[in-house]
Amino acid sequence: DDVINKIAAGEVIERPAAVVKELLENSLDAGAGKIEVEFRHGGKSYIRIEDNGCGMSPDEAMLALERHATSKLQTPDDLLKIVSMGFRGEALPSVASISRFTLKTRAEDREQGSEILVNGGKLIHHRDCGMAPGTRIEVANLFSSVPARRKFLKTDNTEAAHIVHLVRLYAVARPEVDFTLVEDGKVVFRSPRSSDLKHRVAEIWGGKMAEPLEFFPEITSKGMKAWGLLGRPGTGRSTRREMITLVNSRPIDSRTLSYALIEGYHTYIPKGRYPLAFLFLEIDPAAVDVNVHPAKREVRFRDEGQVRRFILEGVHKRLSELAAGEFGFVDE
Ligand code: ADP
Ligand code: MG
Repeated sequence: DDVINKIAAGEVIERPAAVVKELLENSLDAGAGKIEVEFRHGGKSYIRIEDNGCGMSPDEAMLALERHATSKLQTPDDLLKIVSMGFRGEALPSVASISRFTLKTRAEDREQGSEILVNGGKLIHHRDCGMAPGTRIEVANLFSSVPARRKFLKTDNTEAAHIVHLVRLYAVARPEVDFTLVEDGKVVFRSPRSSDLKHRVAEIWGGKMAEPLEFFPEITSKGMKAWGLLGRPGTGRSTRREMITLVNSRPIDSRTLSYALIEGYHTYIPKGRYPLAFLFLEIDPAAVDVNVHPAKREVRFRDEGQVRRFILEGVHKRLSELAAGEFGFVDE
């Protein structure tokens, strides 16, 4: 059973960034207004995620570590309307089966927190502890008991880059949450909650990234809403990495959205360059299919054509306004 658990966990958890993703989604699900992420050695030796969300009672904490105990899926139909981010109920037990895992959590209405230590899937202790309301999870020696998986990990720098990119995506996706990211003892970024998206991007990525960005004011059609930031006409990036798309406050990949952006930029971007864009889309969750493969964040839309036209036309219109000078003046 232990071996089966480890194999299953190795399939769900591809690399340290996948652990960070699961824990971040849990913190957001818990309503956290403040999240701190720290990691060392590309996440291989140490990952810590701390939030001020709703926390768990001692019983809930134990339950959370039992595989599938918390699955929110009742019927196959539920897959089609996943609103909350977590839905498989197996992230925590999977991670705990392949690391030295410490969970400290306190629900708001409790005097005490509880601390659970699990090593390689084995419960070491469960005791009361003092702490502020919220949850703190530490994951040490990830994959040390799964040599087959450890062998496939890339260098610390590469694994670190995956984590940094991921946390940046979640931080920009949820500007109302205070985010801090620390790598090997150094602050990568710190961004208090903020309503100014461009300012948020500057805090998370640095001023250079934000400089060519213009506001893309909200557009709406048929229950869809989109807004964000667009790189000024004539500017572009050498990779697709900075075409950042967020659906219902969650970073996702969608060929439809990427191509709509690229097409929207047609004639407004130099050859061989990709748009720099932060595109937010709000859409009825029932119109979105979330790929059930845990490692992917690709989504499909019920009506891909409708979404594509909505974004393509909105982006193109905004870029033509910007190119003409917003108020009828032409920039010299
Ligand atoms: P899922 O998110 O799919 O339910 P997880 O294994 O990721 O499964 O988490 C199990 C459960 O533990 C969650 O459903 C939630 O009730 C609880 N939980 C996990 N992380 C947190 C957190 N940071 N704050 C509060 N509750 C949490
Ligand atoms: Mg989860």
